[in-house]
Amino acid sequence: MKATKRIADATQESLHRIFTVAEAPDSTLGLIEQEMSQNLVGFLNNHIVASENALTDIEQDFIDAQIPEQPAFVSDHMSHLLDKLVSQSVHTSSPSFVGHMTSALPSFILPLSKLMVGLNQNLVKVETSKAFTPLERQVLGMMHNLVYQETSDFYQNWMHSAQHSLGAFCSGGTVANITALWVARNKLLKADGDFKGVARSGLFAALQHYGYQGLAILVSERGHYSLKKSADILGLGQDSVIAIPTDENNKIDCIKLAQKCDELAAKNIKVLSIVGVAGTTETGNIDPLNAMADIAEQHQCHFHVDAAWGGATLLSNKYRPLLAGVERADSVTIDAHKQMYVPMGAGVVIFKDPSSVAAIEHHAEYILRKGSKDLGSHTLEGSRPGMAMLVYSSLHIISRPGYEMLINQAIEKAEYFADIINQHPDFELITKPELCLLTYRYAPKSVQELLANQGKNNDVAGQQHINLLLGKLTKFIQKRQREDGKSFVSRTRIEVGHYNGEKVIVFRVVLANPLTTKEILQDILVEQSKLALESEQFLPELLAAANTK
Ligand SMILES: *Cc1c(COP(=O)(O)O)cnc(C)c1O
Repeated sequence: MKATKRIADATQESLHRIFTVAEAPDSTLGLIEQEMSQNLVGFLNNHIVASENALTDIEQDFIDAQIPEQPAFVSDHMSHLLDKLVSQSVHTSSPSFVGHMTSALPSFILPLSKLMVGLNQNLVKVETSKAFTPLERQVLGMMHNLVYQETSDFYQNWMHSAQHSLGAFCSGGTVANITALWVARNKLLKADGDFKGVARSGLFAALQHYGYQGLAILVSERGHYSLKKSADILGLGQDSVIAIPTDENNKIDCIKLAQKCDELAAKNIKVLSIVGVAGTTETGNIDPLNAMADIAEQHQCHFHVDAAWGGATLLSNKYRPLLAGVERADSVTIDAHKQMYVPMGAGVVIFKDPSSVAAIEHHAEYILRKGSKDLGSHTLEGSRPGMAMLVYSSLHIISRPGYEMLINQAIEKAEYFADIINQHPDFELITKPELCLLTYRYAPKSVQELLANQGKNNDVAGQQHINLLLGKLTKFIQKRQREDGKSFVSRTRIEVGHYNGEKVIVFRVVLANPLTTKEILQDILVEQSKLALESEQFLPELLAAANTK
């Protein structure tokens, strides 16, 4: 219990203090800082409450729209944060939380982040970042090298050139994809004679000048929704993103892709970009990038590879061939905050041609003067933090072989999980892992046999009915598991080829956390089997259906 409540005042002196005096080591914040720096995982285990409150209950803790008239003591406020915020946060670094692409962080990240925040450099211009600008350019060079493996002369020439950039560092894959397509749009609809280019005259004038009926972005049906956002803000409209069907391995069907290109050309609709996905968000599969590059070449359009999640695989010499053809892309998106174990806010888009970014260059008098090395002249975002430092440090501290071990282990762990799912009579593997991601569901053996029989008899309606029930059961198990708070898998809905392309609800697992053990994976199946038995409606209905056939 708190003693009598202390009252803080907003005075000149107290304001001066918060800018100059550190919290005492034995204050609430001081103690929290020590606990976090000594053992972050322990801190999170201690302060995050496992069982879940309803979001509507949590909202009651964040209901007041008044800006406080009364300042709070830091210690009091820290207690409040521990109680209301930390305790009800998600334990993303827990080894048994295998549902998200957000995973554990190496322990050096925390003090390095503190250094980055303390320096508070603004990467928009050299004036407010100095050494951070060349550092970020080096990181872009290293990521370019990861994808394109150019000669050292190439990097000496372009890495620090004021008129060029090997890419753009940004807050994540969404902004990276937008930037890539922005460059593609402005290069395609460039200035020409009297026409000043799309960047100045807009899309309407550009289409008129070039005589196009419209523009299209072609990506597999597993493409990320950020591409629709991109099409929306670039003025193309979401419907100009055309989803090409995938094969049974969730990879784009290149015959259908080529057909669509021809069909659009006949209608005088120009393909702005073909987008390959290297690691789909839902199933982790990689498109046939070489075949896609051939089609892009044939139709003379931009080829972008969205490797936001799977791009880190290039750090593994063993699995790098899975992305063969990526080096033929005009631009590539990679998120460092996914499989590179950097905290959120770290994405890059890399351009094959160092002069590509000229297409999106902006200048202003007081900053970003022409000829300056200011990174802000070709980034969508303005003020940006020094996140590149965390990528730089991770690449140095972990190194390429270290990343290779992390990536290889993650993929092999996913293969192990797929094996125990396949061996278990009551689970069905839906998509097998190509990278460290797979989907599956709980389906008792007798129900799986029923589905197989229905398949043989072409009983589509019967299968649909069973898949619907299994979907409800999957949802029930996933919610209960999340609420219990011991472990977490996510769920999604995907079309499954061998069920006539029907959309099926599945568990989705991402095995990036190096601390996830085989025992944890075995336990997840045990827990899910138990939870299934607690379903009083869906499981009995399924078993009854299986028994009457
Ligand atoms: C995560 C992801 C994105 C979006 O990245 P954010 O960092 O969340 O903005 C885009 N494409 C793919 C394939 C992704 O996995």
